[in-house]
Amino acid sequence: MSLFKKEDKAQEPVEQKAQEPTAGKGRPTPKRKDAQAQNLRPLVPKDRDASRKAAKARMRERENAEYEAMQTGDVNHMPKAERLPWRIYIRDYVDARFNLGEFFIPVAFVILVVSIFVTYKWPHGFRAMTSRIDMAQEHFDIAIIGGGPGGYSTALRAAELGKSVVLIERDATLGGTCLNRGCIPSKTLLTATHAVENMRHAKAMGINVSVESIDFGKLRTFRTQTVDTMTKGLAGLLAHRGVTIVRGEAVMQPCGSVHVTPVEGLGHILRFVKAGVGEPIDGELEIVAEDIVIATGSRPSPLPDNPFAGALIDSTQALELDTFPSSAVIIGAGAVALEFASMWRTAGCDVTLLIRKDRVLSAWERRTSATLTRELKRRGVNIITHSHVTHVETGANLGATVHYTREGSEADMSAYGEVVLAAIGRIPNTDADWFEACKLERDARGFIGIDAFGRTNLDHVWALGDITSGHSLAHRAFEQGIVIAEKIAGLDPKPVDDDTIPQVVFSFPEAACVGLSLDEARARKDVVNAQETVYPMLSNSRMLMSGSGGSLSIVSGAYADNPEVPLVLGAHIVSPIASDLIAEAEQLVGNHVPLHDAARLIHPHPTFSETFGEALLKADGRPLHTR
Ligand code: FAD
Repeated sequence: MSLFKKEDKAQEPVEQKAQEPTAGKGRPTPKRKDAQAQNLRPLVPKDRDASRKAAKARMRERENAEYEAMQTGDVNHMPKAERLPWRIYIRDYVDARFNLGEFFIPVAFVILVVSIFVTYKWPHGFRAMTSRIDMAQEHFDIAIIGGGPGGYSTALRAAELGKSVVLIERDATLGGTCLNRGCIPSKTLLTATHAVENMRHAKAMGINVSVESIDFGKLRTFRTQTVDTMTKGLAGLLAHRGVTIVRGEAVMQPCGSVHVTPVEGLGHILRFVKAGVGEPIDGELEIVAEDIVIATGSRPSPLPDNPFAGALIDSTQALELDTFPSSAVIIGAGAVALEFASMWRTAGCDVTLLIRKDRVLSAWERRTSATLTRELKRRGVNIITHSHVTHVETGANLGATVHYTREGSEADMSAYGEVVLAAIGRIPNTDADWFEACKLERDARGFIGIDAFGRTNLDHVWALGDITSGHSLAHRAFEQGIVIAEKIAGLDPKPVDDDTIPQVVFSFPEAACVGLSLDEARARKDVVNAQETVYPMLSNSRMLMSGSGGSLSIVSGAYADNPEVPLVLGAHIVSPIASDLIAEAEQLVGNHVPLHDAARLIHPHPTFSETFGEALLKADGRPLHTR
């Protein structure tokens, strides 16, 4: 289409251009060099008016040619040289229409003002925009954001299946919450205090030992060395599998690539191909991948209107304390709260546990949670039920005071602790702007919606671990990671079955469960003949020796499509080693093993595991050592 009005054509004389004879289809083939020579002008024209006149003439000349071609009905018959190169059109158009001084100087001024405004208002965005000029770009099959259990398990399995994988982590060490500030450091401290618990029990058996003191320096070394060994081992394993590790802050782009910037305070991105040997990358990094896996994890949730400050701490800070506190108030009734309550109480701390309901682990099967509540109380944890925290006073002085009310009363009550640990849950790390910008679907609490294979609402974008709703547990994230990697690699994995994910609380005693409770089984339309079998724990010799109370119940029932074959549907345990016992229950529940076959399995004697074997026999209608 012409850029000019048609009237111009009639007014101006048209200069005819030389054309070469056409070859083949009769299409005129211009002498390209000649045509370009006609179109080009000196870079610095001596006479600006003359130049503009010439440009105008050339534009009209081209327009005429175009017009004639349109008249013949075939625009392609316009001489090629008249259409190319495009930049000469633009140059001539500008020359012909504008006085350069009048046009460019104001435009340049406007651009300058806009640039200053943008730099001031969005410094990060502007920097990101300009730094793209020297940004490195790398290609992988899979890019994974987050190096915790979800991210690294996906990486390990995907690499095993031959995929090229990059794992982007902002922390200095891999392993996420679990290895650095969750499962592993908490269990090292619990292992230490378990020794104290055993000593206390030893006294009851006539072994006169006492705990003189705790060397917190050594305890800290024990914790850091354990964590170091685990994180370094993980880095080595990932390197061995050929996974590229990038240390930086990752942002998924709406277009589907991953943009990495240096983490605050580091100044550059690090790229590890060998474990522990990072090479700096200048500027920023653009990662293009077929599939993107998001595993950004979670962080502790503060109390409403009471941010973590002073002696009001979260679980990460609690794990980093130099000593165990002499007194503590713990707010919460879940795994993290109960593990700290057990750990600190065993080490001699006065622990007050503020819980909302009548028992800890209130979402669990009733008998299990009631037994654990009783056992914690027996060990001296002061459990205040039906409490509602109103505010926490964290003054300049040591410690903090928690104000709370109790159900049915307006009276203000308070509890003081050298530390106050709020362990009321975790917030998924899905609130960065890029989740919104990429239109990743999240529920009201921020959890990303996924199917049982980890697929999100976006093609080739997957999510797992603590950012997805369900149990926030490392082993769930491992399983999700394996399934996602296999799905991406084109295998046919089984979907993740949230009903068969075991849950464990590493308190003293431990609590664990898997599968359905009796109430849940009865509520399910696809389950018939649901039954509960309770095993009296103290009829087991090892339980008796341990000095611990406990409970065990098994839920059995059949699926409606096969009502003749009862299966083990759930197990709920409180025992000193419930975390190990639940593994057997998980195999039975997860593999839908018929109850009759499960009851035939032999358990070594005398062990805690016999409790489970005996419970299965009883559920199958043939109890051995019980009535
Ligand atoms: P995370 O482990 O949180 O990892 C996410 C990673 O992503 C982090 O390293 C983070 O730095 C990184 N990241 C986030 N955003 C970005 C970004 N934009 N760019 C780059 N990197 C990013 N579970 C159990 O199964 N057993 C236990 O005994 C147990 N004990 C626990 C004890 C405590 C005190 C706590 C707090 C948790 C415990 N958990 C336990 C839970 C377990 O730690 C989590 O379920 C698990 O770590 C979740 O894994 P994830 O990969 O989803 O996330």
